[in-house]
Amino acid sequence: MDTPQTATYKEPAPPIDKGSPLESMMQRFDVAAEILGLEEGVYEYLKRPVRQYIVSIPIQMDDGRIEVFEGYRVIHNEVMGPSKGGIRYAPDVNISEIRALAAWMTWKCAVVGIPFGGAKGGVRCDPAKLTRVELEKITRRYTANLIDVFGPDKDIPAPDMNTNEQIMAWVLDTFSMHTRRTENAVVTGKPLILGGSLGRREATGRGVMVSTLGALEKVGMEPKGARVVVQGFGNVGSVSAQLLQEQGCVIVGISDISGAFSNTRGIDLGDASAHVERHGTLDGWKGGDVISQQELLELDCDVLVPAAREDQITPEVAARVKARVITEGANGPTMAAADLILQEKGILVIPDILANSGGVTVSYFEWVQDRVGYFWSLQRVNRRLERMMRTAFDAVYKSAEQHKVTMRIGAYILAIDKVARTLKVRGIYA
Ligand code: NAD
Repeated sequence: MDTPQTATYKEPAPPIDKGSPLESMMQRFDVAAEILGLEEGVYEYLKRPVRQYIVSIPIQMDDGRIEVFEGYRVIHNEVMGPSKGGIRYAPDVNISEIRALAAWMTWKCAVVGIPFGGAKGGVRCDPAKLTRVELEKITRRYTANLIDVFGPDKDIPAPDMNTNEQIMAWVLDTFSMHTRRTENAVVTGKPLILGGSLGRREATGRGVMVSTLGALEKVGMEPKGARVVVQGFGNVGSVSAQLLQEQGCVIVGISDISGAFSNTRGIDLGDASAHVERHGTLDGWKGGDVISQQELLELDCDVLVPAAREDQITPEVAARVKARVITEGANGPTMAAADLILQEKGILVIPDILANSGGVTVSYFEWVQDRVGYFWSLQRVNRRLERMMRTAFDAVYKSAEQHKVTMRIGAYILAIDKVARTLKVRGIYA
């Protein structure tokens, strides 16, 4: 009898758009994989998401029209545990961006040492143009579409750009209605009253602060008097600015989608926050000189904290950045093509997968507290967060020194090695 022929075929990895965040992520992944000597099969496994969903979200708008939105959820990897990652609402969000963000979550969780894999979600919509009722309907329909994907032991969403505690509450409620029991641990970053964690809202900014202090120490600078510029004045940007100011730094520039401002005497953050509270954005704020978005990134300062979106530090911007330290509060704010320029200028970059991992770390604490049903004090949350961030910072710094690479590549090496070793121990199910 003839031996049966085994069909061998290679399914192509998802296409990578030129100049996209996914390409930036993959370029760093490739460098780290090469240094690690990653086995080809493991490389192929880790570069692809394990599952991807595109869902259609039809909504009856307030004026009676039916509008159809598109939603995404990408599970990049779950070797280390249930997948974890935020949900972003933006008019230009797309599956390629979500794939990059999902992979970053895998690496981020591994860098900071929490037992989660990586995922990310998004809905293509402009929340600024939606009413609260429409936003709630979108959130609930998106969740209902992904009801079999989410779960406290499966895939756990959190807030990201343009999503917040209220949206997490609607995700929780919709999920709980379908499963017929209240599932607090299905989302993190939810309101305290629903089993949220103290310190979660400030966690990413607190991690940015801890990373920045670590970086200043490495470049021999004191936090007191260090001039800081922060791009983005949402959750991450505003809290990072506030906590760095509390450490003695002087915030000399801030921005949001509506505009950028500088003030060498130091920004009055309380006044800026009150303006955003009243008007929704910084537009029309009188607390600083109005400058362009690009000028903000190029201001004379010691620390630059990009905390808005991907691809803000292009090679052109990198050539003009004056900061000594860049702490990446946002995911993917630096294009891969800018890395070398920053390195040659001697700028110490604390990469996103380390610098903004405070958010997912306290999300992990929140998930643990929900599952145990016992809630920690703010002091305990902050103390544990700061300890984990500092340990991760030191490990990444050591990895970078050991391999003679930037902290970014050092972080990727650490993360990929950890996930690859776990994968090998688990083995390949077939
Ligand atoms: P957010 O929606 O609260 O705030 C985003 C801010 O960026 C807003 O002030 C917005 O006006 C501004 N912005 C958007 N586009 C801009 C542009 N082109 N130029 C200048 N400002 C711009 O979002 P967030 O939660 O603060 O997230 C910001 C970044 O941090 C994102 O990359 C997100 O993925 C990342 N991040 C967030 C968390 C978290 O816990 N929220 C955790 C890790 C990483």
